Amino acid sequence: MTDAPEYGFDTKQIHAGAAPDPATGARQTPIYQSTAFVFRDSEHAAKLFNLEEVGYIYSRLTNPTVSALQDRICALEGGAGAVCCSSGHAAQIMALFPLMGPGCNVVASTRLYGGTVTQLSQTIKRFGWSAKFVDFDDLDAVKAAIDDDTRAVFCESVANPGGYVTDIPAIAAISDAAQVPLIVDNTSATPYLCRPIEMGATLVVHSTTKYLTGNGTVTGGVVVDSGKFDWMATDKFPSLSQPEPAYHGLVFGEALGPMAFTFHSIAVGLRDLGMTMNPQGAHYTLMGIETLSLRMEKHVANAQKVAAWLENDPRVDYVTYAGLPSSPYYERGKKICPKGTGGLFTVALKSGYDGCVKFVDAVQLFSHVANLGDARSLVIHSASTTHRQLTSEQQEAAGASPNVVRISIGIEDADDLIADLDQALAAASA
Ligand SMILES: *Cc1c(COP(=O)(O)O)cnc(C)c1O
Repeated sequence: MTDAPEYGFDTKQIHAGAAPDPATGARQTPIYQSTAFVFRDSEHAAKLFNLEEVGYIYSRLTNPTVSALQDRICALEGGAGAVCCSSGHAAQIMALFPLMGPGCNVVASTRLYGGTVTQLSQTIKRFGWSAKFVDFDDLDAVKAAIDDDTRAVFCESVANPGGYVTDIPAIAAISDAAQVPLIVDNTSATPYLCRPIEMGATLVVHSTTKYLTGNGTVTGGVVVDSGKFDWMATDKFPSLSQPEPAYHGLVFGEALGPMAFTFHSIAVGLRDLGMTMNPQGAHYTLMGIETLSLRMEKHVANAQKVAAWLENDPRVDYVTYAGLPSSPYYERGKKICPKGTGGLFTVALKSGYDGCVKFVDAVQLFSHVANLGDARSLVIHSASTTHRQLTSEQQEAAGASPNVVRISIGIEDADDLIADLDQALAAASA
């Protein structure tokens, strides 16, 4: 890694992980579009496969362009190691994979991205894993939900579709006491606004598809490990604390210390699950991440202005933006995300479900898409799209009630965004 700890965030987002190319001097990180990398000799090859030396073998496992991105995100989150993968959802599976086994469960917040609710409530059952969903504002309920088979606690820092901020230090204290790792999805906040590892998170996951890339070009994900969890302290995590049969009996927790989780994710996770990020995709994210802090400042300033305007409009029922003093999460937001609570929120329309449908059909500058965290402003009616698979109780808990539209505020001129919302609200109420 090329970052020095004394560098600030704005410097790291440009320089961490990316020295000039040693072979050519290329200043920008080249796209190493190569499947395989030549071994110096057989001994070199053996060392790489034994994890005695770090290097490149085959791009399903490691690739120099992807490595630059891993090192950069790791530096921004303040982790020990990071592994990129093909999407945010892949990152969640990659995070759980070394921890879970048949019969194990994850205690998860009810306030999560709709796709994550489906992944955890339905799909992971195929692996023999399960999830217990709890209101993370009820700390006693979180504590009570953790049992002998719990292997992770999972939440979002600022929950998609917006407005909810998790009390990360309080949840971390509970997971710590139970000797269970805390996984925080930091997609909506980004490391510029929220630093989960400093607040006690063990692992941070991202959909790099969103703000980290910031230009709506590629899907990707990352798992950042704090390197602070003691995998050897209990017998709960045999993949890390005992001889791993899938890697010729290596005890990752013993041999690799704070890099145990990261090396396991590459040597076993990516090797066998194959949810690899490609170098072209890593390149687009590296380009985007260079301006992360500048974009987040503008996302926050715009969201603040637009949310305040919407809240005062008589056609609007309520706005759930944690940056508004009316939000129940306003004070917590200042603690967890001191530079602002992001660019994502929901707005409930008095015109109900039908009004929401008319509203998303009427926007012109905003795009009606299933994405967020783009430089462009985006809008979606969650109940009829991203949260469609959920029960009405799950929709409600996730902040995606039928009369609610999710808004991802971009970095355009706030006045232009307000003008577009004004005419779309007129259409919704017509
Ligand atoms: C989009 C999103 C995901 C899933 O990421 P993909 O890259 O679409 O797989 C997970 N969590 C949150 C908070 C998201 O917004």
